[in-house]
Amino acid sequence: MSGDGGAVVAAVERVAERLEHERTNLTQLDSAIGDADHGGNMARGWAKAAEAARDLDNTDPETVAKTVGKTLMSEVGGASGPLFGGSLVFASAELEGGITADTAVAFAETYLEKVEDRGDARVGDGTMIDALLPAVHTFKKSIETDELPPLEALAKATDAAERGVAFTVPIRARKGRASYLGWRSVGHQDPGATSTLFILEELLETAADRLDEPIPDVDATSPTIPDEDVEDVEDGA
Ligand code: ADP
Ligand code: MG
Repeated sequence: MSGDGGAVVAAVERVAERLEHERTNLTQLDSAIGDADHGGNMARGWAKAAEAARDLDNTDPETVAKTVGKTLMSEVGGASGPLFGGSLVFASAELEGGITADTAVAFAETYLEKVEDRGDARVGDGTMIDALLPAVHTFKKSIETDELPPLEALAKATDAAERGVAFTVPIRARKGRASYLGWRSVGHQDPGATSTLFILEELLETAADRLDEPIPDVDATSPTIPDEDVEDVEDGA
């Protein structure tokens, strides 16, 4: 993965474009189980974030990530503004030394920790955590235990997030607005898990572009979920 801030600005621009493209899709998902604002929230927030990132004189990864987080916090309302934005501001400090496989793992772990702290959701609650947690743990294991190249680790993480998104469909939402629907949330894909996947897909595309390598094929992998989180799901905790 490239260590320069220019790559981070390029990633943010790419995410902004994708979320604008998915605005209607995300709005439709949120109108089924929420208040139909997730598409607008994300498209607007990331467009402003891309603008702010482009305007920076200092484009080291920490500064770019912090600026994006702050912009999301001020531009994105609802539950997702503080979850995406606040967690990004906090995790940005992990990128102080630039982007390496190790700082990327630390960044991902801190980001997840912050989303968990703020939202108090666990895997199986039908939220963005269902995409994020398997992605982060799969990324960490791929780097630290399996010693895979970072691009392959990111491809596996994205694949894990995709399964997590699919997992939100048959389950009942237990956190956020969708939980107000109780059992009627069953059968619906979570919008925040879906936008989390889109963001990961664009990070993966940016990394592959920068490295001038194809995206590795990682079909049929098992997402990594720590035992204690699996127990939470099985207990319905
Ligand atoms: P709001 O629910 O306030 O309208 P958005 O529609 O922008 O905000 O975002 C909804 C998404 O936020 C949900 O799809 C879910 O993924 C996520 N979310 C909501 N509450 C929580 C929570 N407590 N923990 C983690 N994610 C949450
Ligand atoms: Mg909403």
